[in-house]
Amino acid sequence: MHDTNNIFAKIIRGEVPSSKVYEDDKILAFHDISKAAPIHVLVIPKGEYLDYSDFIAKASKEDVAHYFTKINEIASSLGLAEHGFRLCSNNGAKSGQSVFHFHTHILGGANFGGVV
Ligand code: AMP
Repeated sequence: MHDTNNIFAKIIRGEVPSSKVYEDDKILAFHDISKAAPIHVLVIPKGEYLDYSDFIAKASKEDVAHYFTKINEIASSLGLAEHGFRLCSNNGAKSGQSVFHFHTHILGGANFGGVV
């Protein structure tokens, strides 16, 4: 179950500050507090979704399309279109998810190796 007091829910409500990259009525993008790459931005829906599976199961097709379309636009706005970037969503605790509000990591500005 989604915890409305998770750190990203608090960021959405403005109770915890974030370094915003993009915001509209459905999504928010901000810099990760602990960078795993020179550019590391998190994109979250404002709706209460636990993880990727929950988002796909419950969000409207329009909201899913909006989310993933905007991720591409945000990556471009960060200057990553030409060099390329990595998208990562940890889905569940065993995958490494630590914040249980669905999010996608945009990682860029480095040459990544294999999948992990
Ligand atoms: P995950 O481990 O995939 O759930 O990713 C959670 C991410 O949230 C980690 O990369 C954290 O560094 C990041 N994070 C946690 N708290 C904050 C915060 N207050 N502001 C920005 N990023 C955060």
